[in-house]
Amino acid sequence: MDGGVAAAPEGPATVEPAPEATASPRDLRDLVAQLRRIVGDEWVYTHAHQLRTYESDGLLQYTSIPAAAVLPDSAEEVAGVVAACHRAGVPFVARGAGSGLSGGALPISEGVLIVATRLNRILEVDLDNHRICVEPGVTNASVSAAVGPGFFYPPDPSSQIVCSIGGNVAENSGGAHCFKYGFTTNYVTGLELVLSDGELVQLGGKAPDPAGYDLLGAFVGSEGTLGVATKVWLRIVPAPETTKTLVAFFDSTREAGQAVSDIVGAGIVPGAIEMMDEKAIEAAEAMAKAGWVGADGLTRKAALLVELDGAEHECETRFREVVGVCEACGSDDVRVARDDAERERFWKARKAAFPAMGRISPNYFVQDGVIPRTKLPDVLDRIDALAEEYGLIVANVFHAGDGNLHPLVCYDGTVDGEADRAEELSGKILDACLEAGGSITGEHGVGVDKKKHMPKMFAEADLDCFQRLRCAFDPEGLANPGKVMPTPRLCGEVPGPYRQHPLEAAGLAERF
Ligand SMILES: Cc1cc2nc3c(=O)[nH]c(=O)nc-3n(C[C@H](O)[C@H](O)[C@H](O)COP(=O)(O)OP(=O)(O)OC[C@H]3O[C@@H](n4cnc5c(N)ncnc54)[C@H](O)[C@@H]3O)c2cc1C
Repeated sequence: MDGGVAAAPEGPATVEPAPEATASPRDLRDLVAQLRRIVGDEWVYTHAHQLRTYESDGLLQYTSIPAAAVLPDSAEEVAGVVAACHRAGVPFVARGAGSGLSGGALPISEGVLIVATRLNRILEVDLDNHRICVEPGVTNASVSAAVGPGFFYPPDPSSQIVCSIGGNVAENSGGAHCFKYGFTTNYVTGLELVLSDGELVQLGGKAPDPAGYDLLGAFVGSEGTLGVATKVWLRIVPAPETTKTLVAFFDSTREAGQAVSDIVGAGIVPGAIEMMDEKAIEAAEAMAKAGWVGADGLTRKAALLVELDGAEHECETRFREVVGVCEACGSDDVRVARDDAERERFWKARKAAFPAMGRISPNYFVQDGVIPRTKLPDVLDRIDALAEEYGLIVANVFHAGDGNLHPLVCYDGTVDGEADRAEELSGKILDACLEAGGSITGEHGVGVDKKKHMPKMFAEADLDCFQRLRCAFDPEGLANPGKVMPTPRLCGEVPGPYRQHPLEAAGLAERF
C-alpha cells in the first residue's frame, strides 16, 4: 500500500506479536508442512522478519503477527490452503494490498494469512458485454487501465493505485465518483469463492443470477468473514463524452456544505463532489502544489471540488448552474480546469489529502462516518466544537455528495494519553453521525476498529440475524474471526448434552 498513513507508535490497542509458528503455544508444524506442499516452499512465510510486513493494514494502531503467511498462485491453491486450515481448526484471514483503514486484514496470531498478491491476472476483457473478469489481487486502477479509453470502472477509492479488487469487494469500497455511479456492490456481477471448508463455489458470473436470495450482495461488504474471493466479474461503463471540473473556495465549511445541498437540490448529479477544509487544503497543497491559496497567499477555509461528466451540451449547461450555486453560497473564487493537465492537478490535490496529513501531524486516525447530506453544516460545526474541546486538530476531507465524512483526527503518539484522547474523540464523532441519522461507516468497513460501535447502530436481534447469515457460510467461524461483530459468537448446535465451549467459559464468546 502507499506509505501515506502516518505511523502510530503508541496506539490504543496493540495485539502482542507471536515470534514464529513453531514457537507459538499451538503446534502448527503439520499445517505449515501441508501449506508448503500446496503452494510451494518459497510462498509460505513463517519467520518474524518475513511476517512483520503483514502485521497491520492501513490502520497502524493495531498489530498482530500470524503463524504463517501464504501467497497462493491459483484458486485451487487457495482452496487447498483453506481446506487444510479447516481440517486443523485454524482461522485464516484474506489480505489484498493491506490498505484497509479498519483493521480488516489484521492477522490472527496462531492463524494463517492468505495474501492475494500473486493472484493478479486479468482473465477476460469483454467490451461488447461491458464486462471484465479479474483475479482478486488485481489493483483497482488496473481495471480502468485495461478497458480504457472507451470504458472505465467507476468505483475509485483514493487508494486505487494500490488497493486490490478483492479488498474492494470485501469492503464494498467507494470513492469520489460513487455519488453518481454507485459503489462496488453495483458493479460486481459474479464471484468465485472459497468457502471456509475449502469448497470452491461460484455466485453469478458475467450475468448476475437474479433467481433466489442475493448471496452475491451478501458477500460484497462482508469483510472477509464469509470466505475468500478468487475470481471477480465486474461491470464496466462507457467513458463519458466530456468531463468538466472546478474547484470553488469558501470562507467556511458551512457555506461549502450549503453549496453541496443546493447543487444536489437543484437536480444536478455531479460525477463527483468532494470537500476539504482548511487543514486538509493546507496539507494537500504542501504535497501537490496545485496553487490552492487565496490572492493573499493564505489557505481558504473550505474547497469544493465538483466534476460533471456526460453529454457535452448537458454538461456545459449544468456546469454554469454549479458555478452559479457556488457563487450564491458565498464563493468568490471558482477555478475551472482548463485542460486535462489542470484537472489532474486538482485531483492530485484531493487525493493527496490523506497521505499529506503526515506533514502536519505525526499520527492520525482516519474516521469514516455517514450523515444525511443536509446535515453537513451542523455536523461539521459539531466536529469543530469537539476538536476544540479535546484540544486536537481534526482535518476534514470527504465525499460530500454522499454525506460520507472522513475526519482525520491528528495526535502525537509520543505524548502521554494523546492517542487515547484521539480515539475517544473519534468515537464522539461517530456518535454525532448516528445522532444525525447516519452510520458508523460509509466505505472503510467495521473491521476491528468499529466493532465496539456496532451495538449503537444495531439491536441484539439485528446482530443475531447477521450471525445467522455468517453461520450459513462459515459454521466454524474460521474466516476472519474477531472482525465486524462486537462479541465473538459461536455457531452451530452441539449434538448431545450441552457442553460449555472453553471460549464461552472464559467469557470471550457467547453461544448463538
Ligand atoms: C490513502 C488511502 C485512501 C483511501 N481511500 C479510500 C476511498 O476513497 N474509498 C474507500 O472505500 N476506501 C479507501 N481506502 C481504504 C482501502 O484502500 C479500501 O478499503 C480497499 O478496498 C482495501 O483494499 P485492499 O486490497 O488493501 O484490502 P485489505 O486491506 O488487504 O483487506 C481489506 C478487507 O478485505 C478482505 N479481503 C481482502 N482480499 C479478500 C479476498 N480476496 N476475499 C475476501 N476477503 C478479502 C480482508 O480480509 C479485509 O477484511 C483508502 C485507504 C488509504 C490508505
